Amino acid sequence: MDWVQLQVTVTPELVEPVSELFHRYAKSVVVEQSGGFNPDEGEEPDPSAPVMVTAYFPNDRRAAWRRERIDFGVRVLSLIRPVPSAHERVVSPKEWEESWKEHFPVLRVGNGLVLAPPWSEVEAAPGQVLVRLDPGLAFGTGHHPTTRRCLTELERLMKPGARVLDVGCGSGVLSVVAARLGAGEVRALDIDAAAVRATRANTRANGVPMDVKVTRGTLPQPGLGAFDLVLANLSARLLITLAPQLCAVLANDGVLVGSGLLEERRDEVVAALEGAGLALRAEFHDEEWVTVVCKRGDDDHE
Ligand code: SAH
Repeated sequence: MDWVQLQVTVTPELVEPVSELFHRYAKSVVVEQSGGFNPDEGEEPDPSAPVMVTAYFPNDRRAAWRRERIDFGVRVLSLIRPVPSAHERVVSPKEWEESWKEHFPVLRVGNGLVLAPPWSEVEAAPGQVLVRLDPGLAFGTGHHPTTRRCLTELERLMKPGARVLDVGCGSGVLSVVAARLGAGEVRALDIDAAAVRATRANTRANGVPMDVKVTRGTLPQPGLGAFDLVLANLSARLLITLAPQLCAVLANDGVLVGSGLLEERRDEVVAALEGAGLALRAEFHDEEWVTVVCKRGDDDHE
């Protein structure tokens, strides 16, 4: 699939509001300062130098909607300080992959998770779990606040031998980490063929000690069974429509980690999950994103 690249060069004080706005509607945002300085040498960029902010999103049927929302946000920001209009360009899948490679630094998440691109030379310290991810064309590098929160919760809730289901696996980041943390079974689902390919490649590349079964599709899936941990980093709309199915695949004392929803839809999503028989046990707010942790309502044990 092609990607849309939106690029705008702004003065430093506009970097934060513009990248916040782009983050809201794009899948990836890159902030690039002009070169000519070396941070390793303690040099800093010229504080008045213009900064390039770039957003990427898939060129699918929602592209026009995303563009419209971003344009609206830019107009609102311009009331405070003029923002130049964004330059739009369609990017080929090949170019998109290359740009990821450039902008994918090592990430440390939770207590001992280290996410690194395959080309990084980082090594795991004792007790750490190092996962190498080549996200290719699929979402899920750990840079998004929802992925980070799901990883933190996964690390916290994971019990050895647990059966884990990853709905909307994207790059497979959560499945790979679950397998590396000692899951007994990992199943991954995604409706996007590129995500299925990326998840298979990323599980192979990390030599996970088990067979992660990746299926193209969504819930319900015939013969899926029950899971101790269900990870669903999707969207408000999908959590609402899939709520009964997410509940149905939970083992009696299983835990659901649902994410990908914006704060403004939190109540609606919680109501749908509760309506499906789940009880909210915890919630986390990261920037404007919410992650909910639920158990079956009929289970009174922690
Ligand atoms: N789990 C990864 C990726 C989340 S992005 C992470 O936490 O970072 C959400 C993913 O859900 C995308 O890969 C998208 O293709 C997939 N998706 C969208 N609709 C879906 C559906 N109805 N069922 C399953 N997956 C879906």
